[in-house]
Amino acid sequence: GSVMTKITNHLPTAELQALDAAHHMHPFTDDAALARKGARIITRGKGVWLTDSDGHEIIDGMAGLWCVNIGYGRRELAEVAARQMEELCYYNTFFQTSHVPAIALAAKIAQLAPGDLNHVFYAGSGSEANDTNIRLVRRYWDVKGQPQRKVIISRKNAYHGSTMGGASLGGMSGMHAQGGLPIPDIVHINQPYWWGEGGDMTPEEFGIARARELEQKIQEIGADRVAAFIAEPIQGAGGVIVPPETYWPEIQRICDEYGILLIADEVITGFGRTGNWFGSQTMGIRPHIMTIAKGLSSGYAPIGGSIICNEVYRTVAESGEDFNHGYTYSGHPVASAVALRNLEIIEDEGIIDHVRNVAHPYLAEKWKGLTEHPLVGEAQLVGLMGSIALTPDKERRARFAAEPGTVGYRCRERCFANDLIMRHVGDRMIIAPALVIRPEEIDILIERAWKSLDECYAEIKAEGLL
Ligand code: PMP
Repeated sequence: GSVMTKITNHLPTAELQALDAAHHMHPFTDDAALARKGARIITRGKGVWLTDSDGHEIIDGMAGLWCVNIGYGRRELAEVAARQMEELCYYNTFFQTSHVPAIALAAKIAQLAPGDLNHVFYAGSGSEANDTNIRLVRRYWDVKGQPQRKVIISRKNAYHGSTMGGASLGGMSGMHAQGGLPIPDIVHINQPYWWGEGGDMTPEEFGIARARELEQKIQEIGADRVAAFIAEPIQGAGGVIVPPETYWPEIQRICDEYGILLIADEVITGFGRTGNWFGSQTMGIRPHIMTIAKGLSSGYAPIGGSIICNEVYRTVAESGEDFNHGYTYSGHPVASAVALRNLEIIEDEGIIDHVRNVAHPYLAEKWKGLTEHPLVGEAQLVGLMGSIALTPDKERRARFAAEPGTVGYRCRERCFANDLIMRHVGDRMIIAPALVIRPEEIDILIERAWKSLDECYAEIKAEGLL
């Protein structure tokens, strides 16, 4: 490595970009292409606003990576972290030991979680938590005397993380194509994506049809070999795909009937995103295990976990043996203390009520209004996670002739240029702003979205991409 002077916010952008390109390899990135272009460097955050190294004031329509639920720049969380670092910066929770932050946070999560989801196993991220879930459900069936129950059914275009386990559970073909995934005994059924795949069926028919694929898969594999079904209540990284109303009730029926465990991956949908504490409540499902991360700490500290129902917990806990699994940072005291304070802020400030009664209704009307734009087909919004489908032909729900994602990427670039962060997934544009977003900020977000769509439309028309 090379030696250098102190790197701070005050260095010119080009210099920071050169250093970034020289030494920092980015996740999910064509790194050489980024090195040529130069990364955008974010320097500050406050509420729903970001500042970059060129002084742009950017409205963050994605709350970072769907995580900064209470908004950027909360001094209280900085203070909690500082205090905890001084008092007990770290101790583990292995070897018959515990500490107050891990205890207090677990109790709080159990209080918030529905039903008898009363037990928390900590991880450092959503990916790790899903790795835990794979080992936990297989361990559960081992202890139950059914060790052959190993198969976990998931869905194509699901996102469950980037570790070997998480990426295997996920159904991202681009991820499976790199690194020999999925690991054995994980299989995928089709997603309930009506706009893209529903053909001539009504959404209701399609929801049932896609849910029945779970039943068919269970029968094909043999019910006595299936350990669990995992799904996001609403697919996030797959493009904010809200399933038809018929989908989840049918999935719940099938899981109940065949006695297989239901894992709801609430990494995005947890902690207020959908207008309830958990997306499972919004979608009316009763999971045995929930995966959590992101909004648990609003991204102020890396922490995730699994919330586990009494039956699964007791079976594994009372097996008479250790559960041979855990992470150095399981229940990290600083992350736990920060997460607990974050949850208290969500409660004390009535942030979920704000989502339900103010931000969602206000945004929903304007978001729906985007369908009047010539490029926009459907617009979906649950709580504060939303998507629009870009299309050359709304009636036929058609795809662009260009490779999928070409137009979406163009649109995202226009958003960036207009100081709005919206993400694209293929040719869907998605948002998930901080839950504290105010009506006047929603106005700005929508105004910039319209402008970006207009520019994108003009651009692709001029280039014959339409
Ligand atoms: N599950 C879901 C539903 C997610 O959206 C994500 C992250 N986007 C993960 C798991 C993985 O979480 P992490 O990146 O914290 O490992």
